[in-house]
Amino acid sequence: MFTLLIVVSGVAGLLIGSFLNVVIYRVPLGLSVVSPPSACPRCARQLLFRDNVPVLSWLWLRGRCRFCAEPIAKRYPLVELLTATVFATVAARVGVSWAIPAYLVFAAGLIALSWIDVESLTLPKRLVYVHLALVVVLLALASSVTHHWRHLLVGAICAVGWWTLFFLLNLLNPRWLGFGDVRFSLVLGLALGWLSFGHVVLGFFAANLIGLVVSLVLLSMGKLERNTRIPYGVFLSAGALTSIFFGAPLLSSLAIH
Ligand SMILES: [Zn+2]
Repeated sequence: MFTLLIVVSGVAGLLIGSFLNVVIYRVPLGLSVVSPPSACPRCARQLLFRDNVPVLSWLWLRGRCRFCAEPIAKRYPLVELLTATVFATVAARVGVSWAIPAYLVFAAGLIALSWIDVESLTLPKRLVYVHLALVVVLLALASSVTHHWRHLLVGAICAVGWWTLFFLLNLLNPRWLGFGDVRFSLVLGLALGWLSFGHVVLGFFAANLIGLVVSLVLLSMGKLERNTRIPYGVFLSAGALTSIFFGAPLLSSLAIH
């Protein structure tokens, strides 16, 4: 059952990753994610049904449009592979649980928002709120089936707590922390808080540690100016995933629950 869950989640990750590519491309442009069907951005011809297979289509088309040979961004297979890997790891960590749909949706949102943040330094409001709403509904469903309402309560408190901290930081200086990150903190507090308060603390520190290390490395390589804006949403997402992946063994070894 456990192995099956991981395999099914990995395959679901390939398909969801394919959809996330659409989200990453269209949401920042303010376009619908359901219609029209995917088309080549250069020759505008609609993709054939068989060209929609995650990763494999990109490989057998050798990364080019079937009609006009325009190169197809490597982002497409990369996002699909990344989503499959993250989904399989989340499934392995969360295990056979009613909460698994919530955590897969949570992870999918983190991937899409991170990618958009890197490319455009924004976290689109619409996407942040849809992500939050889906995670709220799925975690509430999981709580209602298992009657573990305490998890939802802790999650809600952590969401408000994290939001308040970021809101105050944004109020002090919007250049330190954009309002996109303030909105984004709600879903982070909720999803990690549902696991435990320790997961929230770990996610927060992991995010800032990863952000600090990456910034220092980029600075030393001369790829970052001192006043370059960094996509903080990526580090928040990386911290949240680190907390889900390593939180349980790490926190129990520290005896924090
Ligand atoms: Zn084309």
